Amino acid sequence: MNDDAARPHLFGMTPEDLCAALATRRIDCSITEARRLLGHVISEGRTDLVLRRPPRRAVLQAVDALFDRERLEVLDRVKDGHDGFVKYLFRHRDGALTEAVRIPLEKPGRFTVCLSSQVGCAMRCAFCATGRLGLTRSLEAWEMVAALATVRDELATDPSLDALRESGVTPRVSGAVFQGQGEPFHNYDAVIQAARVLSNPCGGRITQEAITISTVGLVPQIERYAREGHVFRLIVSLTSAVEEKRKTLLPVAGRFSMRELVRVLREHQATLGKRITLAWVLMRGVNHGEDELEALSRELGELSIRLNLIDVNDATGTYEMATDEERIAFVGRLHAAGIATQRRYSGGKSEHAACGMLAAKHRSGSEATNLEGGLA
Ligand code: SF4
Repeated sequence: MNDDAARPHLFGMTPEDLCAALATRRIDCSITEARRLLGHVISEGRTDLVLRRPPRRAVLQAVDALFDRERLEVLDRVKDGHDGFVKYLFRHRDGALTEAVRIPLEKPGRFTVCLSSQVGCAMRCAFCATGRLGLTRSLEAWEMVAALATVRDELATDPSLDALRESGVTPRVSGAVFQGQGEPFHNYDAVIQAARVLSNPCGGRITQEAITISTVGLVPQIERYAREGHVFRLIVSLTSAVEEKRKTLLPVAGRFSMRELVRVLREHQATLGKRITLAWVLMRGVNHGEDELEALSRELGELSIRLNLIDVNDATGTYEMATDEERIAFVGRLHAAGIATQRRYSGGKSEHAACGMLAAKHRSGSEATNLEGGLA
């Protein structure tokens, strides 16, 4: 472990955190100074500490000496020519590999970044490449923020967006979604801290409502999240309402019953005061039949829900995407049952696009990658 690894990282801090961390070292830093420092490093993405309006010399020297501000190494970038998704592979200081994806939004020039929260994942969902990797470790808040900052900063110079700039649109990252490698609620504290930094005006400058945290259904953490009253968007992955089937698809369902899950969803809905969103990874012949309609109305009938339908992207081919006809028929039956739906494009249909695939490819060392080729 090098010296930097032992120092707290500025990318994991809000201005209040920085003031408090300096205070423990008997260094007085005003909130204005902390805002300027973090705005310079996180919001503006500067690696130096040459500020237009610098803080006092003692504060600047202390921040330089005591805190880390290094970025993650970008090992690979792969652009999907079909849909414009750009997948990043990061190498962390301990050699761990994680991914982030730059996702174009409907509004031209707006992007969201899908972030990993762990190296691998312990949840072992049946249809997920990351689940097959197992869990190596959880990410720290700064690593998630640093991943977004790198994607954001490269956006500013991406030549493929020149036409957009010439039309007067400045491309920018306006959202973040914790839906990459890992189960965000299995790394609850760090993910919430990262979301705080990302939504801070001196951090990622993303509105809280545009930050989405996705969970496969860890009941105690959903309960805690509801109790803490966060206003980030929470999406709980349901994928099947038939309890026994859900257990085979999402092993976490073996730990928490449908009854417990519905209980905490009710609490979440009460906190939110509006419809809650559940993710549904749609798989051909698996979870779009009558049994699901019946179970949805039996188990979740009292809740006001929207299902985000996501096409499965299973590189092993064990689970296939539903056909258009099957999806449309399922949506029709859901609507008839009063359940709102939204189709979430899972994106990146190219090779290695599924979550965990790029990291798996590099771990196996099976292919060389042209680092320059990604954004071309
Ligand atoms: S779908 Fe999400 S929670 Fe499930 S194994 Fe994959 S990364 Fe983990």
